[in-house]
Amino acid sequence: MRVIRSAGAFVMSRAYDLIIVGAGIVGAACAAECAQAGLHVLVVDHGPIGGGTTGAGMGHLVVMDDSEAQFALTAYSVALWKQHQLPAQLEYDPCGTLWLAADEQELAEVHRKQKYYSDRGVKTEVLDERSVHQAEPNLRPGMAGGLVGAEDSVLYPPAAARYLMDRASAAGAEFRQGVAVTQLKPEGGVVLADGTQIPAQRVVNAIGPWSPALCPGLPVRKRKGHLLITDRYPGFVNHQIIELGYLKSAHSAGKDSVAFNIQPRKNGQMLIGSSRQFEAEDTHVEQNILDRMLKRALEYLPALGQLSSIRAWTGHRAATPDKLPIIGPSIDNNHIWLATGHEGLGITTSLGTARILTDLLLGRPTQIPSAPYAPSRFANS
Ligand SMILES: Cc1cc2nc3c(=O)[nH]c(=O)nc-3n(C[C@H](O)[C@H](O)[C@H](O)COP(=O)(O)OP(=O)(O)OC[C@H]3O[C@@H](n4cnc5c(N)ncnc54)[C@H](O)[C@@H]3O)c2cc1C
Repeated sequence: MRVIRSAGAFVMSRAYDLIIVGAGIVGAACAAECAQAGLHVLVVDHGPIGGGTTGAGMGHLVVMDDSEAQFALTAYSVALWKQHQLPAQLEYDPCGTLWLAADEQELAEVHRKQKYYSDRGVKTEVLDERSVHQAEPNLRPGMAGGLVGAEDSVLYPPAAARYLMDRASAAGAEFRQGVAVTQLKPEGGVVLADGTQIPAQRVVNAIGPWSPALCPGLPVRKRKGHLLITDRYPGFVNHQIIELGYLKSAHSAGKDSVAFNIQPRKNGQMLIGSSRQFEAEDTHVEQNILDRMLKRALEYLPALGQLSSIRAWTGHRAATPDKLPIIGPSIDNNHIWLATGHEGLGITTSLGTARILTDLLLGRPTQIPSAPYAPSRFANS
């Protein structure tokens, strides 16, 4: 028990089982899951809920197939999202993903992906040139084909983080905003910027791209991304549309890459992405990157040139060397846990991450193997 002074009276308060640093979508999801499992949870953030990378992201909930471990976590998480009755402010839209093949080489990738997904029970549909045009009449004619990922959807990430934090609060979690953590204590607990210490059994580092600041040596690098939002044009596109060349961009270890990716929002706006840059820690919008993104988008959707965009911004993804998140106890200290490194998939994988973290904390079996995401995989690097 802790004793805290409140308005002249002494109040007995239960000590925290867990302090989660970071109220992005990952921290919020972990808070909801842990509090619902009966843990006494405190979440701290120096900014608002969802004000970090979460507020800069695109909100595409997508089953991905880059590796078996990535597939397992994204499929698990998309299934968990489907168990929620999401309120209207999350702007959930089960629009599906249209992976676009511009040529024969990319069409071969359509068939490979289709087999991969269908072997694992994920619904997809192969489209030929004509059906791509019917599905998305504003695309330039002559696409080789496409693949619709029917289980994918989109939502509005900051509202999703607030929704999860509300669930955490309803289950008894506390949240302190405007609180910067400067240190994670080896025996559990945190030190705040004003020197205050808050004890806890365990602490979770969920501060995404900033996570190495509290766990030096953690192999997480900032990967900058740009997004652009248009004015309202309902029905201009009907799916989240992504060029298959996007996968080359996401995999590229080089400094800069750009790929065509567009998302319809429920209000008729469209988010246009996206870029990936290492060695770009600043947050300013770079005109040359926006120009490259727009040029790429116009190659696929020439009529975009008639529309107005209203704002551009950037965010930093938390990239790891093997493109998988880091979930579980840190290598050498069971009081310090990690839920970070979600790169471009943290909105999708927040729920799977939270479920795995909670199962591990409580010593329960995990529903999917947790070893691919364990911090210990970097023990010798
Ligand atoms: C351009 C772009 C597009 C994306 N599109 C998608 C997409 O379509 N689908 C998808 O699944 N993912 C997408 N992502 C990735 C997704 O946004 C992230 O993986 C996810 O938001 C990470 O959430 P997080 O909670 O780990 O981190 P964050 O949201 O960054 O939260 C970390 C929190 O920690 C706080 N913090 C930092 N330091 C401290 C400190 N010392 N003390 C206290 N608090 C601190 C910050 O204020 C912040 O609120 C995209 C990312 C980008 C950049």
